[in-house]
Amino acid sequence: MKIAFIGLGNMGLPMAVNLLKAGHAVSGFDLVAASLQRLVEYGGRAAATVAEAVAGAEAVVTMLPAGKHVAGVVPEILAAVQGKPLLIDSSTIDVETARRVAAQAAEHGIDLLDAPVSGGVGGAAAGTLTFMVGGTEAAFARGLPVLQAMGKTIVHAGGPGAGQSAKICNNMILGISMIGVSEAFVLADRLGLDRQKLFDIASKSSGQCWSLTSYCPVPGPVPNSPANRGYLPGFAATLMLKDLLLAQQAAEAGGAPTPLGAHAARIYQALVEVGEGDRDFSVTYEYLSDLYRAEAP
Ligand code: NAD
Repeated sequence: MKIAFIGLGNMGLPMAVNLLKAGHAVSGFDLVAASLQRLVEYGGRAAATVAEAVAGAEAVVTMLPAGKHVAGVVPEILAAVQGKPLLIDSSTIDVETARRVAAQAAEHGIDLLDAPVSGGVGGAAAGTLTFMVGGTEAAFARGLPVLQAMGKTIVHAGGPGAGQSAKICNNMILGISMIGVSEAFVLADRLGLDRQKLFDIASKSSGQCWSLTSYCPVPGPVPNSPANRGYLPGFAATLMLKDLLLAQQAAEAGGAPTPLGAHAARIYQALVEVGEGDRDFSVTYEYLSDLYRAEAP
């Protein structure tokens, strides 16, 4: 297929490279010239504008920072495309913008899927991302071969916006559970309970969860968790804050009571403000330890 790829950043470039490896022809556009050059090195084509990238494309993938970028680029795409290519937005954005751009595309008779991902930069490079997809059944069926070249698990979550809804609900669970696990280890430290013992017990008890058993925020129990490499991301705390704020935006718009989600967002906001934003989001353990120590009488 001829595929246009807009947004060749940390995630977009390796995703576009996997499309090339699967045999698709990829024409890319990014505001950063160096990213375009890297796409060319992998066999892609560099376009000078969005319009040039999407000319003749059968599918267009966008991987942009936030809702305002997607809201700006989608009308440019709609004005420039020939025929009825499938649009796939894999950026993590607010549900309202996702639904709005899908409706704009539908006015042009064009299908747009919201298809945010989990799996991070590692998953993007390995082609093992999970895609959570919102859109019609027919659009999902059209998008599947494109998504399969970039990911391993692809789930149709429902109509337009359902992919973004699934993403922020999942990440709200993750943000809250990571803080919960971190607090338990801070308490264990203060009680003189060995961390490994807490891990051995809780990982087989009702405290068991992904934040504990796959991504443990203290060094030791899970050898490949970021805690063992100085909280090098992984998934940076700023990105977790972004997703928690999107969840809060959706909760306010939909009238959903999410008090722990709101509190988790405040904790990540404070963590980012003290300069920890570029570290892995499991740095909550270190942050909470230090915070409590600083506040101790
Ligand atoms: P990034 O900042 O590395 O890449 C975004 C790219 O978009 C940049 O190269 C930027 O130049 C480009 N861009 C911005 N505006 C543009 C425009 N108008 N036209 C063309 N290009 C434009 O971000 P990223 O880490 O690749 O993340 C992309 C999206 O994926 C975000 O929504 C993020 O929340 C989501 N995400 C990221 C991760 C992760 O681990 N990095 C994981 C899951 C989801």
